[in-house]
Amino acid sequence: MTSRVITSRRSLLQGAAALASFPWLLPTAHAEAPARKLRVVASFSILADMAREVGGDAVDVTALVGPDGDAHVFEPTPADVKRLSNADLVIVNGLRFEGWIERLVQVSGYRGPVVVASKGITTRLLGPAPDPHAWQSLANARRYVDNIRAALVAARPSHAAHIEQRSADYLQRVDALDASVRKRLGQVAPADRRVVTSHDAFGYFAEAYDVTFISAVGWSTGSEASAADVSRIVRQLRAQNVRAVFVENISDPRLVQRIAHEAGARVGGTLYSDALSPPGTAGDTYLRMFDHNASTLLAALQVRAP
Ligand code: ZN
Repeated sequence: MTSRVITSRRSLLQGAAALASFPWLLPTAHAEAPARKLRVVASFSILADMAREVGGDAVDVTALVGPDGDAHVFEPTPADVKRLSNADLVIVNGLRFEGWIERLVQVSGYRGPVVVASKGITTRLLGPAPDPHAWQSLANARRYVDNIRAALVAARPSHAAHIEQRSADYLQRVDALDASVRKRLGQVAPADRRVVTSHDAFGYFAEAYDVTFISAVGWSTGSEASAADVSRIVRQLRAQNVRAVFVENISDPRLVQRIAHEAGARVGGTLYSDALSPPGTAGDTYLRMFDHNASTLLAALQVRAP
């Protein structure tokens, strides 16, 4: 026993002497390995954008459902399973938006935190179910950002100051946009703020900015409008003097185009409902998306009916 200790100590000393002769073999004491970026997987593009804004250099973010993608009817692939199994942090919307996430987490073996970005918001109901589209109000976005900030700080305490600063800066931009949207939509009389969209994604927007949205297919894009739905909406449109109908970036535009045609209404443009648009286009970040929606609504509502 004793002799073995002595032997090993001797070999250690010999090893150290050898390293001293070859200094480039010694580890550099002061150069810490750069902290690996936190691998964040967000369920859809809007959350991914928020996580990038808040996390900055500390994070490497991917979205499962990308730009123009429809999370209501998403079907994960083996590549998504792999993404999750390599993740450090998973961010979801919650409110039953991602019906597929639980199974995906299970299959991937991911054991880290699953952060629910909408935690703490006041939930609207669509019938008996929660309305998942809470990001369509900038006041709710504040809550999302706060939940994401807390999760990133907990996962990377060494970057806390950086993350806190970025989060505070981002929230200032959220507040400025909120004030601007209120001011712009305030130019339209409340009675004239009535529009049609294809699915019921704008309930939180409607509450926050006092705009009435009439939807063709209900809360999920998974269901289809019946002929009766279409004629109900056409009647409603005519009776209520609805100014404009809008297509959405995640849905087939034909339904809304047909409604517009039958009711003699105009298509006012495209609204970004459940996804950002591709990089380099008008709704490629959450704030640009929100700003685009407000401007598009305003432009259509300000046109006087013929
Ligand atoms: Zn939706």
